[in-house]
Amino acid sequence: MQSESAAPITAFIGIGSNLDSPKDRVKGAAGLLAEIPSTRVERVSSLYQSAPFGVTNQPDFVNAVACLSTSLEVRVLFRKLQKIEAAQGRVRTKRWGPRVLDLDLLVYGAAVVSDPDLTVPHPGIADRNFVLLPLQEIAPDLEIPGLGRVADLAADSKEPRIARLE
Ligand code: ATP
Ligand code: CA
Ligand code: CA
Repeated sequence: MQSESAAPITAFIGIGSNLDSPKDRVKGAAGLLAEIPSTRVERVSSLYQSAPFGVTNQPDFVNAVACLSTSLEVRVLFRKLQKIEAAQGRVRTKRWGPRVLDLDLLVYGAAVVSDPDLTVPHPGIADRNFVLLPLQEIAPDLEIPGLGRVADLAADSKEPRIARLE
């Protein structure tokens, strides 16, 4: 498989943590993303605090979104994210369960992927203010393939507002 695309692609990563110093984990994730080859971190949002999604008997989450410029092919980038999660000691228990670091590939340019293990754009974006609000902060005019403009999605959201931390 070709691992690099011809021109750099703008990709957005959703970062989350609710275990083991979540604020530091989320801040540290930007540095880890910067170590991915052929990839630059262009922007990182503020940190936000959100109540847990899906499985509610666990600590609150700290969330942020990072904007990358990458020459890696989408599946290669995804594997790098999974490697970082594993290196941070992420133990896969259940979906939506507590974790030291969650890195979701939200958007990869205009790409639409529906592999068994990879869906891009990430299917949860429109329902989650802990994704939409940090995304709006750094890329309000981003058009998410098949969904629309970030600022419009955030304005239409019926979700409770979440708190900005710092
Ligand atoms: P959610 O995906 O709803 O945010 P989660 O982050 O708790 O839930 P995980 O346990 O981290 O879910 O991952 C479940 C599976 O989601 C992974 O095995 C991965 O293959 C798959 N997946 C599909 N599309 C994506 C994507 N765009 N980014 C990250 N994981 C994805
Ligand atoms: Ca997630
Ligand atoms: Ca995930």
